[in-house]
Order: sequence, then structure tokens, then C-alpha cells
Amino acid sequence: MQAKLAGARSVGQRRRDVRARDFGGRFPARAAAAIPPKERTLPTTESLFSRSTRQADLDAVAAEPVDLLVVGGGITGAGIARDAAMRGIRTCLVEAVDFGHGTSSRSSRLIHGGLRYLEHGWLRLVFEASRERRILLRIAPHLVRPLPFVFPVHAGTRVGRLRLAAGLWLYDLLSLFRNVHAHRMLSRRAVQRLEPRLRDRDLVGGAIYYDGWCDDARLVLATVRSAHRHGALTASYARVVALEKAGGRVRGAVIHDAIDDREITAHAHVIVNATGPWTDALRQMDDATAAPLLRPTKGVHVLVPRQRVGNTGALTLTSPVDGRVMFVLPWGDATMIGTTDTDYSGAVDDVAPTDQDVTYLLRSTNAFFPDARLGAGDVLSAWAGLRPLLTDGGAASTAEVPREHRIVESPSGLLTIAGGKLTTYRSMAAEMVDTVAAKLHALDGRSMPDAPTDREPLPGGEVADLEQLVRELDMERVPEPVARHLVDTYGSESAAVANLAAREPALAKPLLDGWPVLQAEVVHQARREMVLTVADVLIRRTRLFHRDASQGTGAAPVVAGLLARELGWDAGREAESLADYLEAVKRMRQALTPS
Ligand SMILES: Cc1cc2nc3c(=O)[nH]c(=O)nc-3n(C[C@H](O)[C@H](O)[C@H](O)COP(=O)(O)OP(=O)(O)OC[C@H]3O[C@@H](n4cnc5c(N)ncnc54)[C@H](O)[C@@H]3O)c2cc1C
Repeated sequence: MQAKLAGARSVGQRRRDVRARDFGGRFPARAAAAIPPKERTLPTTESLFSRSTRQADLDAVAAEPVDLLVVGGGITGAGIARDAAMRGIRTCLVEAVDFGHGTSSRSSRLIHGGLRYLEHGWLRLVFEASRERRILLRIAPHLVRPLPFVFPVHAGTRVGRLRLAAGLWLYDLLSLFRNVHAHRMLSRRAVQRLEPRLRDRDLVGGAIYYDGWCDDARLVLATVRSAHRHGALTASYARVVALEKAGGRVRGAVIHDAIDDREITAHAHVIVNATGPWTDALRQMDDATAAPLLRPTKGVHVLVPRQRVGNTGALTLTSPVDGRVMFVLPWGDATMIGTTDTDYSGAVDDVAPTDQDVTYLLRSTNAFFPDARLGAGDVLSAWAGLRPLLTDGGAASTAEVPREHRIVESPSGLLTIAGGKLTTYRSMAAEMVDTVAAKLHALDGRSMPDAPTDREPLPGGEVADLEQLVRELDMERVPEPVARHLVDTYGSESAAVANLAAREPALAKPLLDGWPVLQAEVVHQARREMVLTVADVLIRRTRLFHRDASQGTGAAPVVAGLLARELGWDAGREAESLADYLEAVKRMRQALTPS
């Protein structure tokens, strides 16, 4: 790690050689000359993770059996692949679309103990999640940040002051009093000072407590990249379309490679189903009569301009519509509001927000921020995800469905992991890999030590002081908003993006006016983050799809052009990827149009 830090620092040491750079658009040029290319070096923390590594990995798994095939590149599968690869298990991870395409890029993004779980007595889960929160804040400091939450109490609400005080004390206790800070109870005046636009009628006080907020899609990506660094074969756009058996035991999978339109067969000693909401579909690929393990529930979020709501920070609220706990979360200049929790029985691929979902979230928020008067016209974007929750033996409401996970072995030997949450993915993965390791031990007697997944930083997380990185970029004349954005997004790898922009001034231009996102990022993402489509860039790597009022459509042709250059697309492929993205935008907007 020292070497990696030293590598990142070397960019700072070269600042005297830096003359000037044009960041274009709204970021004023400070001088005309670009940085001389030879003066700078990329940090050593980087490794290729691209279309070519993907192709080589698929060829490798087709040529030679692996110990473990993990199906599903959400946070669960990513965590399993990382843990297994770190233990020296020959591992392959395949994802049907892009890494994090499923639920793992549509969560509330909280790395949390789960305050509301206390109401259900799920103390073990809160204890485990609180420990995982501590670990993730440490191993991915650029992606998981501490976030203070104000929990206001109004007279007559379901959670009164005494109940809240007792709950938060228990919450701190279950984190062994090692959360970012202990909670504090607040007077009515203190809540008003913190959140001046919050409804003050019936306000009696509240509390402030701490959780983590993360970039969920990037957490998945960083975890997959870590797995890859440890030797896992990894491929996105590689869907398992059939399972192969020998003597009734599952031994392989047929994989459709959507990028090169080919099919390959991968053989493995152990196959793990980590497909989240698609869990039962894969189980039924193995055994058409397999009983469903999941009771999926749909969760919707909406994004609105922050100035329309007027929240200064994050709030935990109990919806006056149905008493459910919900969150109002600051995301740059916007406010993310979520979430709903309703049973879902439709097609997993078609999950989308409805008018009722959006209305519920806006009405609940308006009740707490009466000046906001939010309406459908304020919504910048809305999206839905499915919680892959376990069938519950008859829980009455969706909120009561347990958030625990379960590992199940089918008669064919297929291992399935179902349930769980983003926060606890690392410990879930360790448990699954223990099961895999036991099977491999039974097979050939090998033993493997536990993986140090709680100690080794995720890629980009090899940094002790994020502010120092911002200062270093700043000293190299990267405008402050850009520097902050790069560090928040890429952590210790931010200098690599700045280097690209310095080498090729055209790449120093913003991807979209008004946003600190550089064109250089698209190139970086194609080389180091396995971006293969326009949607990968705009939906999951930059989130302009969600954050920009026009869903980043202004940037889409630029992204397509840069990817064409990087990935060697012909004009047809470029147009196709652009059209697919515009179609996704259209679908989202249709879902927002009142019926
Ligand atoms: C609205 C909402 C809010 C949430 N908020 C939080 C929160 O704040 N904090 C928290 O800790 N948890 C939260 N969760 C829960 C958490 O997001 C999920 O538990 C977690 O993301 C599930 O990850 P996964 O990898 O199991 O599933 P997914 O992320 O869905 O990944 C499964 C992957 O499998 C792939 N796949 C499917 N079939 C195949 C196939 N045949 N071949 C190859 N790949 C395949 C899919 O494309 C998909 O990418 C939330 C969930 C929802 C819905």
C-alpha cells in the first residue's frame, strides 16, 4: 500500500512542472499551454479492466475449468468473487448486463446499521451491519462517507421522543459505541436551526445520528475490480442462459457473450447463484420445479431539485401516509427521496416506478416541507429496484419481511445466496466462500486461509486523507469542483483521470455543461472500468441519467463518440449504443408521465 500511496503522491511532486490546462466549458481556462506529457505518470494503483481483459477472461474460462463460477455481478456476486479470489480460489464472475445493473445501483445508498430494524427486534442484523459500516468506511473512504441524519419528532407521530431516544441508544450500543459519532437528542429549537424549512407545527424535538452514504454502483465496480486484481476472471454482458449437468450435478454453464455475440461453455467445480431478484429464475433453470425463495418488494426513489425541498441535510422521517420510515437525502444540488416498499409480482426486468409510487413520495415529503409543494413536474428522475427478500413464512407487511440472507444448496449442488443487503455484502460473501471452500476441501483436500477483505482497501480507497488529494489536484490547477468530483469518484485514482485530461486537452472539457464531469472520464472508464455501452457511462458510472434534468442526453453523442474511438466501434455500433441509451431515457420519462 505504501508503494501505491507513493505513486499517488508523485503526481503532487510534479506540480512545479505543471504550467496550465484548459478545462473548458464553465471552468475557465487559466492558461493556454497543456501539461507536457512526459512530466506526468499514472499512479501505480491502476490496472486494466476493459473490453480486452473481458475478452481474454471469457476465452480463459472457456478453455479451462475454474473452481468457482459466480453468476450475477451485483454487490453480492462481486463480494463473493473478491473473497474467493483473495483466498486463491480460481474464480470466474459473469454478469448479464453491466456490473451493478440490478438492485445494487438502485438502493437508498445507505451503509447503515438499519435503525428501523430495531422496531422488528432484528438486533443481530443491526450488530452485523454496524460492524460492516465501520469496515466499509475504512476500506472505501472515497465511496462510503459518514452522513449525519436529523430525525425530527412531531406530536402524534408513531415514533415519539422517548422511543427514539431508547432506539438510538440501542443503535449506538450495537455499534459498540464506535459509530462515527454518538447520537444526540435535539430540542425543538435545535431541529429548527438545522432544518429551517421543516414543518414547525407540532415539532417537539428530535435527534441527530450517523450512518454511511455511498455510491452503490461504484462500490460494486470497485469490488469487482478488486476481485479481478486478485486473479478472478470477470465479464459483464455475459449472461448464463443454461446450466450443464453431469450425473445430476451442475458442472457448467452456457454463457451468452452479448458483446461479441457468441456462446461459450464454462466448467466449474462449484457454481454460485448470486442473481438477486433473478434468483428464482436461475434456480428454475437448474430445476423447473424448484420452489421460489424470494418475496421481492419494489422500492422507488425520486430525485428533485434540493432548493425545491429546502432540506439542508439528510432526514429520517415517518411517512404520514402509512407510518413507514423514509429518507430525504442530499445528493449535490438535488434531493433523493425514498423509498416505497410494495410487493411485486411482475417481470423482474420490467420493474419501473408508477404514478402512485411518485405521488406517495412527494406527498410524504410535502407533509414535512409544506413550502415545497412538490408536484410531478419537479421530478428530475425516478427509478425502481427490487429487494431480493426471502419468503417470510407469512409476514403481514412488506416492512416485516426479514432482511436476513440465506444460503441454499439445491440437489444438483447449485449454491444460492438470497436476501441480505448492500451494507452486509462482505460478511455474506465470506459465509458463502466458507461453504465453497469446504466443498473444494472435500474435493481435493486443499485448505485456504480467510481473506483479508476487511483490511485491504478497495481500488481507489488506498488513501489516508481525501482532502490532501483534492489539494494536490488543486495545486495542479484542476478547478476545485472538478478536483472534488474526481476524488469523490475515483479516490486515489483521481490523478489518473487528471493525467489523461492533461495529455489530451480535448478530454479536459466537461462532458456536459454545468457538470464537473470530464470527457477524460469516459476514456478512463473504457480502459479501467469495463465500460462497454453509453448507458454504462451515463447511468452507472456518472449518474447523469439520474441527476441531469435532461438525463444527460446532451452528453450522450459525445460519450458514444469517445467510446467508438476507445472500443473500435464502427458507425453502426456507435449509433446502436446511442439509440439504446435514448430508449432507456424514453422509458423512464414514460413512467413519469401521469396516465
Ligand atoms: C429501493 C431499495 C433500496 C435499498 N436500500 C438499501 C440501503 O440503503 N442499504 C442497504 O444496505 N441495502 C439496501 N437495499 C438492498 C440492497 O440494495 C440489495 O440487497 C442488494 O443490492 C442486492 O444485491 P445483489 O447482488 O444480491 O442483487 P443485484 O444487484 O440485483 O445483482 C444481481 C445481478 O445478477 C445479474 N443476473 C441475473 N441473471 C443473470 C444471469 N442469468 N447471468 C448472469 N447474470 C445475471 C443481474 O443482471 C444483476 O446485475 C435496497 C434495495 C432496494 C430495492
